[in-house]
Amino acid sequence: MLISLSYLLAASFFIVSVRSLSSPKTARRGNLLGMLGMLIAIAATMLLVNDVLYTSLAILLGAAVGIFFALKVKMTSLPQMIAAFNGLGGLSAVLIALAEIIGGSQALLDNAVGLIIGAVAFSGSMIAFAKLQGLMSARAVVFPLQQFLNLILGLASVALCGFFVFSGNTELFYWLAAITILLGFLLILPIGGADMPVVISVLNSYSGWAAVGIGFSIGNTLLIIIGALVGASGAILSYIMVKAMNRSLLSVMLGGFGLENKSAAAAAGEAKTAKSGSPQDAAFIMENANKVIIVPGYGMAVAQAQHVLREMADDLHRLYGVEVKYAIHPVAGRMPGHMNVLLAEAGVPYEDVFELEDINREFATADVAYVIGANDVTNPLAKTDPASPLYGMPVLDVEKAKTVFFVKRSLNTGYSGVENPLFFADNTIMLYGDAKHVTEEIVSALEEK
Ligand code: NDP
Repeated sequence: MLISLSYLLAASFFIVSVRSLSSPKTARRGNLLGMLGMLIAIAATMLLVNDVLYTSLAILLGAAVGIFFALKVKMTSLPQMIAAFNGLGGLSAVLIALAEIIGGSQALLDNAVGLIIGAVAFSGSMIAFAKLQGLMSARAVVFPLQQFLNLILGLASVALCGFFVFSGNTELFYWLAAITILLGFLLILPIGGADMPVVISVLNSYSGWAAVGIGFSIGNTLLIIIGALVGASGAILSYIMVKAMNRSLLSVMLGGFGLENKSAAAAAGEAKTAKSGSPQDAAFIMENANKVIIVPGYGMAVAQAQHVLREMADDLHRLYGVEVKYAIHPVAGRMPGHMNVLLAEAGVPYEDVFELEDINREFATADVAYVIGANDVTNPLAKTDPASPLYGMPVLDVEKAKTVFFVKRSLNTGYSGVENPLFFADNTIMLYGDAKHVTEEIVSALEEK
């Protein structure tokens, strides 16, 4: 009774927590509620376990690892940390399912489902981690008959699962584990470039559904509820991301979109030269503007330039009466909401921050687009070049502003590896350098007068 009540309480905390996390204003409270829910869940589960010592040691070890990474990991490395944690969630589902089957559990179907989803989440997340961490190329890895091989492995998993459920033969279960782990590797290999955000949230969803399967097999209602929350919210996030990128989930998961493209854009880039300017030039043009739209991207996060960026916006508004807005692309940075979090941390008012669909029309009336560490999210080839891996993704129409400043260190490509023809456009001025450093110099120039 006490355990059931605690589980109910913990589940309620989790549900309110997820709700609160949907807005930056309540996200902190959401985090706290989630932590509280987990504390209650762990305390209640401790009442259930036979071996308190070993379980406590395992919890302490897990907590130590979690705290270590939470303190050490940089904001820009969060996506790979999430990928690694999704993978660990999947691995736990695999190990619990194996332990249950070896221990003689009769919940054959539940364990098999938990194993299949957990194994794909585990190995898929390992590949996602390796790509995001730069341990392997972020580009799509494709080879002949890849989809056919995946199809065969997928069908073999379903067949093995069926045979296992009807026969209860443990050996089949091991084969199922091996094949689904291999399938997870192969499914994520051909996905690259701009589609990684979707993959991460899909894998996140998988790890949730794996927990649901395991929850059924060990008869733990709280695990079923939490798993369903993670699975459903991951699925909704994937849907939102897929829509934002103008893709279909099937095409993302079948892969091949992130292939390197050396077509029109690269050729154009090689032939042309880009104009560059100084921070002082940029300050002069911006202080004489009526409207400036700031487009932050991954480079702003790397340089931790959000605070000085806010100073620049404040100066422009306060000292020169310029209207300043921020335009956020749904996949800017390296995780959903990355830019929103950083701007909120720097104290940028929420009402100055606009999503792509709400601001895109305004570039045509802006004097300046200040693109700071962003690249792919502005690439017009996404609109014009069907051969480009970015094709179909909505982008910020920065080129419609009178002047476009790109603050970055070189003409290098962004995450997708696709050249951006805007660097060579007539109304573009490159401001080479670290995003924070360049913006600091602009602030000094603005404040000098
Ligand atoms: P991009 O990766 O396209 O470009 C970032 C640019 O920042 C680079 O071209 C780099 O150029 C520049 N940069 C890096 N460090 C600095 C620095 N210190 N100072 C100034 N500039 C710097 O970023 P976007 O935000 O435009 O696009 C995000 C990309 O990441 C998309 O392709 C998206 O699909 C992908 N992605 C997004 C995820 C998400 O959930 N949001 C997750 C995984 C991938 P240079 O080297 O010349 O300085």
